[in-house]
Amino acid sequence: MPPRWFPRALLRARNGTCVRPAVGVVFTKETVVTWVLRPAIFLDRDGVINANRSDYVKSWAECEILPGSQDALRRLAALHWPVVVVTNQSPIGRGILSMETVEEINTRLVTVIAEAGGRIDLVVYCPHHPEAGCGCRKPQPGLLLYAANALGIDLGHSYLVGDAESDVLAAQAAGVYPILVLSGRGEHQLTLLREHKVDHFHVVADLSEAVTWILAREE
Ligand SMILES: [Mg+2]
Ligand SMILES: [Zn+2]
Repeated sequence: MPPRWFPRALLRARNGTCVRPAVGVVFTKETVVTWVLRPAIFLDRDGVINANRSDYVKSWAECEILPGSQDALRRLAALHWPVVVVTNQSPIGRGILSMETVEEINTRLVTVIAEAGGRIDLVVYCPHHPEAGCGCRKPQPGLLLYAANALGIDLGHSYLVGDAESDVLAAQAAGVYPILVLSGRGEHQLTLLREHKVDHFHVVADLSEAVTWILAREE
């Protein structure tokens, strides 16, 4: 059976809302069907949608949504691209936070964004300790590749908005175009990126400016 998200992908393909499609093919026992790989917007969570905390966001009460990010996500929803949050949550691996708490924070964030007219289609997170050597903790591209596989995403035409060097590097490793926001850890991380001579990313003040820039290019 095609995965559960398939019919929506097919609908999008039929009503022509997908921009610059690449075609993929699914073979099932009885049918051969085609669908369209769609570009997506990847968003880091802390420092982009909500305020970054050096001691981690450990509860919903500590999840302070940044001014303008709800409105930015509402405007972004009009693009009809999948919106995917990709977030490192090492406090789980460090034994500071449970997966249940992180999932509760994520779920409440998605709900609040939806109530404000925005849309987050998927949240994927890395629960591992930085020393675990996993393939999903950014700057590794694993979270992006997982989402691309699950949702049929055309990585080469997608964007990632993040506030850290690790976001920029994860995007580049997945073939996604990186946008660095100066909110959160962005100012300091931009210095690091320049020191490390990392190139080919766009810099904006915050998520609102990132969305304006993306919409101007893609609408
Ligand atoms: Mg961040
Ligand atoms: Zn991981």
